[in-house]
Amino acid sequence: MDTASHLSVVIDLSPTQWHLSSEAAKGDSRPLSLEFFFSQLLVFLNSHIACKDENTLAVFGALPGRSVLLFSSANEAKEHREDLADANAYLPFKTLDSTVMKSISDHIDSLGVSDVEAPTGLVGALTKALCHINCSTATASTQPNAQATSLDPRILILSVSPDQSSSYIPVMNSIFSAQKLKVTIDVCKLFGSESVFLQQAAHLTGGSYIYLDRPDALLQYLTMSFLPPPAIRQLLSVPTQDKIDFRAACFCHKRIIDIGFVCSVCLSIFCQPVPVCSTCRTKFPIKTLQRLNAARPPANVPKSAAPTRTLPSTNNIRAPATNGSGTVPVPPR
Ligand SMILES: [Zn+2]
Ligand SMILES: [Zn+2]
Repeated sequence: MDTASHLSVVIDLSPTQWHLSSEAAKGDSRPLSLEFFFSQLLVFLNSHIACKDENTLAVFGALPGRSVLLFSSANEAKEHREDLADANAYLPFKTLDSTVMKSISDHIDSLGVSDVEAPTGLVGALTKALCHINCSTATASTQPNAQATSLDPRILILSVSPDQSSSYIPVMNSIFSAQKLKVTIDVCKLFGSESVFLQQAAHLTGGSYIYLDRPDALLQYLTMSFLPPPAIRQLLSVPTQDKIDFRAACFCHKRIIDIGFVCSVCLSIFCQPVPVCSTCRTKFPIKTLQRLNAARPPANVPKSAAPTRTLPSTNNIRAPATNGSGTVPVPPR
């Protein structure tokens, strides 16, 4: 751990999903409640800032219909909190714990009854995390000892909500931005069904996607898999996913599809052959459309035909992002 490391944590705070999670028992393990989750998460966040003095941390919350910055170590360093002085507590830990918990309860209290059903602002939180990293990287590179303050940035998404297929395009754009900024995206799926988009986010940025099988061992999952920065993980055997769902959502209906048709000009994905691409207005020959329509499989394809690829456990495989297996390019006229 020679260089400092930056961690941005995105917490999915969907009230509906957390209610379901606190009631659903998994195997022998007890259900994952929000209270238990926070007790474990705060230990993990404290461990990160304890690892190295220069380590930085930002915490973002994805609430229904909005996303907020809950804590940033850059802001906290500037203000002195006299009210938190306690001889028995290490001040940075106490500041972190109380700031995160206070901002979460303030934001939850401000939610109206109608807001609770809105989809969570996961993409907003992810985008804010990327902007925060971009900003701090730019500041660090202007300092004289830029080499020494390499941030090795990463984002950890703690997700409980299912995928929203309407957010496919913004999620993919965030993944491309993360690749460009050399940001690793880790995902811990705490509750609910597997997330297709987050699996792709972790795979394409060299991060880990872990499904929490034993909620009572949450802290162990977090510490063993997500605490070491990416540079150290090359020396460890961090669990990675052996199965990745590469399916994409069509641009026309925002549905996750097994077989798609890709515009050969702009790479937009459609669930059926279209005469004109709705994105770039390219027209396709009628003969090609007829041929593609004739070649389509019957509507009710069995689940086993889904183009889910099984890959060896490694972080270093790169796959095409938008048109995973099962997409057919349509030539322009
Ligand atoms: Zn469609
Ligand atoms: Zn197009």
